Amino acid sequence: MKTSKATEKNINIAAKLLLKGGIVAFPTETVYGLGALASDNKSIERVYAVKGRPKNNPLIVHAYDINQILAITKNIPINAHILIKKYWPGPLTLILPYKTSSNISPIARANLKTVAVRIPNHPIALKLLKTVNAPLIAPSANISQHLSPTKASHVKKDLGENLLNENDMILDGGKTSIGLESTVIDFTCNKPVILRPGGLNINTINKDVKVSYIDKKSNNTQPISPGLFKKHYAPNASLRLNAKFPMVGEVWLGFGKDPKNIEYFKKMNLSLTGDLNEAATNLFSMLRLLDKKNIKNIAIKSIPNKEIGVAINDRLNRGASN
Ligand code: AMP
Ligand code: MG
Repeated sequence: MKTSKATEKNINIAAKLLLKGGIVAFPTETVYGLGALASDNKSIERVYAVKGRPKNNPLIVHAYDINQILAITKNIPINAHILIKKYWPGPLTLILPYKTSSNISPIARANLKTVAVRIPNHPIALKLLKTVNAPLIAPSANISQHLSPTKASHVKKDLGENLLNENDMILDGGKTSIGLESTVIDFTCNKPVILRPGGLNINTINKDVKVSYIDKKSNNTQPISPGLFKKHYAPNASLRLNAKFPMVGEVWLGFGKDPKNIEYFKKMNLSLTGDLNEAATNLFSMLRLLDKKNIKNIAIKSIPNKEIGVAINDRLNRGASN
């Protein structure tokens, strides 16, 4: 399967392929998404199959503007409007009541009465959505439960062999800037609740709207929302979290200054300066690199549980579960 540079011409081609029922992987500011028309049952069936994603894990509908969102949702609470106004386009997904008269595939929604929606903040994603002129579903373009892709080459490696239809395409728009998925907030409960921490920080959101977040670090195997399985975002290697120093046979993945006496080929660093945003951008690509080198055991320095560090820790905890 060919990877094409995301030029204007290729974005136009990609839009035509999507309208013909193809699958197009494209960059967003969070991670690469696997796009298909949100109304097209057949393509969406294929997206689930290509990713090996369980059908009870609904997909996020990506839109170009608020009008496309208003066409598929109803009864949007005022607090959701406040966040929409401030943070869209951006790494924020809202679960809203679904307008049953609209045409989003029931397969994409896992037959729920709700729908997950977002306007991504990436020029290529927005250009593609605008050209298609219809919402797209776009789960991360990786094999289900594995590391999300932050580069086109990651998509090719994971899904290249499954995207062989003549209408499929990978649009290469370089490395994604945030590197972690969007923050998901459910606005269909009594009080808004964060289902997944992500690119938009919880503290930031709380300044505008109070949202609750239950850190599911240690316990439940029962997902509180469809698809929020404990094991997710997992590399092949096993992860030892909050480590102080690597043990024999482990490679060190540091944050901030590294401990002394680790040989250079046995260490990587998410951010030498201890910058959480840099660490988020690097997380999945460094774990992929270590998998590529066939590293079996990784010791990871503790990551401060603040700002985007909350989302990093969420991914690491899931990545470390069995
Ligand atoms: P991703 O797997 O990155 O595409 O993220 C989609 C996330 O949104 C998953 O955790 C889904 O379970 C969640 N999600 C999507 N639609 C809904 C919905 N209608 N209700 C609750 N969670 C949803
Ligand atoms: Mg995913």
